Amino acid sequence: MRLQNKVALITGGNSGIGLATAKIFLDEGAKVIITGRNPETLAAAEKALGSNVLTLKLDVTDVAATERAFAEAAAKFGKFDVLFANAGIGGATPLGGTSLEQFNAIISTNLTAVFFTVQSALPHLNDGGSVILNGSVHAVLGAPGWSAYAATKGAVRAMTRNMASELAPRGIRVNQVTPGGTKTPIWQPMASTADAMSALEARLGGMSPLGRMSEAEEIAKAALYFASSDSANVTGIEIVVDGGATSAPSGAKIFRAG
Ligand code: NDP
Repeated sequence: MRLQNKVALITGGNSGIGLATAKIFLDEGAKVIITGRNPETLAAAEKALGSNVLTLKLDVTDVAATERAFAEAAAKFGKFDVLFANAGIGGATPLGGTSLEQFNAIISTNLTAVFFTVQSALPHLNDGGSVILNGSVHAVLGAPGWSAYAATKGAVRAMTRNMASELAPRGIRVNQVTPGGTKTPIWQPMASTADAMSALEARLGGMSPLGRMSEAEEIAKAALYFASSDSANVTGIEIVVDGGATSAPSGAKIFRAG
């Protein structure tokens, strides 16, 4: 068991990548705190995950509420060894069709709240702990219409490095998982029917040499590596789980001869 006697806090642990990570961390012996906004999916996650789980209803864009919730969690479960700042939202912000509110909603959730999630957790994080941020291949893809989202994920990549330097004196490592298109509910607003989801899977999968979207569990396993002592001398890096879409894009199906 790679996380025996460890306490892990996962924001956005009631869905998708966060929920898959909570399951894997629990299987590896951790006690897990999950946060989310939606009371129904929080309750469903609590039921599905079983014992050793604490659920907190929390909007991570509310800094004061985040500080209170993390203090409460530490009082109940003990100081944290692992923080996975995973909560995030998708959404297009095309030039010519984006309001300030839409733009700021993405920035405040995917960038500002990530910083304050780490800051709020720090007083409750053990020296030698592991912080994991959730990035995205959008940081480097240049996908049209996704400027705000891409900007936040580029900023997360930068913050991973800043925080790795800043927290090194306490032996706290800071790394990043960087998913490519991954099958989670984040895509529902853009692909609400089964047919639309299949088309999306074919399109996104077709952008990578390995030819498919990632599973949430595949991102969770990268997070497990960072959470555990297997990565004890690793900080400031990212693990990209995208089937090669960003590192070997010429291998994508559309470039193959037959
Ligand atoms: P989901 O929509 O399944 O999960 C997103 C999670 O974030 C939910 O638990 C949601 O909680 C939580 N969340 C969003 N906003 C807030 C908020 N203001 N306060 C608290 N919780 C919030 O999507 P994924 O699992 O796919 O996304 C997880 C992370 O992975 C995100 O950072 C995303 O950008 C990143 N990512 C995902 C990719 C993909 O293709 N799926 C690709 C690249 C990166 P609730 O539902 O309760 O609001």
